[in-house]
Amino acid sequence: MSAKNRVARWVRPDIRGLTAYPVPDASGLIKLDAMENPWVWPEGLRDAWAAQVRALDVNRYPDPQARTLTQRIREHDAIPDRYRVLLGNGSDEIIQMLALALGGSGHGVLAPEPSFVMYRMIATFCGMPYHGVPLCAESFALDEPAMVRAIEEHEPAIVYIAVPNNPTGNLMAGDAIERVIRAAPGLVVVDEAYTAFASRAHLELLDRHDNLLIMRTLSKLGLAGLRVGYLVGAPAWLDELEKVRLPYNVNVLSQAAAAFALENHSVLAEQTARIVAERARLAGALSEMPLTVWPSEANFLLVRPESADALQVHAGLRDAGILVKCLHGAHPLLSNCLRLTIGKPAENDALLEALAELLR
Ligand SMILES: *Cc1c(COP(=O)(O)O)cnc(C)c1O
Repeated sequence: MSAKNRVARWVRPDIRGLTAYPVPDASGLIKLDAMENPWVWPEGLRDAWAAQVRALDVNRYPDPQARTLTQRIREHDAIPDRYRVLLGNGSDEIIQMLALALGGSGHGVLAPEPSFVMYRMIATFCGMPYHGVPLCAESFALDEPAMVRAIEEHEPAIVYIAVPNNPTGNLMAGDAIERVIRAAPGLVVVDEAYTAFASRAHLELLDRHDNLLIMRTLSKLGLAGLRVGYLVGAPAWLDELEKVRLPYNVNVLSQAAAAFALENHSVLAEQTARIVAERARLAGALSEMPLTVWPSEANFLLVRPESADALQVHAGLRDAGILVKCLHGAHPLLSNCLRLTIGKPAENDALLEALAELLR
């Protein structure tokens, strides 16, 4: 028996049919593909952080409750005591915990599309049915009647709504979100990965809906390498999810580094403000080019070349040393689209210059 034969016999066919999440090699390139904060910490702060790390005892398991970090997150986000906070190794792990806890009944995961691909991928890993409901073409608004119909038909265990949405960058209308929450028999998770860049957040909706949880992450704030995401909501839900959380899911270094970063949150806030200002500058300059530029409340812009081929523009940018995300083929509504993460001013200038050349 070869390993191949054993794999064919024992590994689930739906897993064998998948391809692993592709992460392109970005070495040597200006990296504008993954919604990372382009700024690092100032030198003095790095030294203070290194001193803290030096004092950590990595021979011991982490604090399973991550009490210090949880407290810093509570303070930073002004989370009321009546809600619980559950930490994950990135929000990706929280999406997995939700599938572990709510999957198995035959009821699945439902989300507007195009949106964050992990909702579908993790549903598949966990054997949960997945239902995508197209957003309104061009505006990318929630198609409320279609969402409500799909919810009534499928009775999903979990509905995800990313607000602002990735990869479209828009905020969904608040009243539409609330009507979808009311229509859902199961849990609704509003994913606020980009809330630091947005004009509206939804924590206060928790008081009005007993089937709502809010998911956030430190990734887009400038700490993607630490892998810290969190879920906020009523203890009744989070006490159950806590049971499927691996006891030491957030490691010692991440707990300490994230707590330290939040204690110095003015640095992150200043970086975020710079990204928002650059977003406006970049959107303005791009709107002068033969491109459709969608309004964004996140740290990226979705664009569509009017006459050039997005695949060729993507390749041309790469030749010019700039990595962006090509979304052509990811969803019909994204045909010929590119997603540009906001970088530092000089990186954005390089992007504008290369685009002007390619779209001439
Ligand atoms: C980037 C992103 C996340 C992030 O995940 P982490 O695992 O916390 O890095 C979650 N949701 C959306 C919509 C995202 O775009």
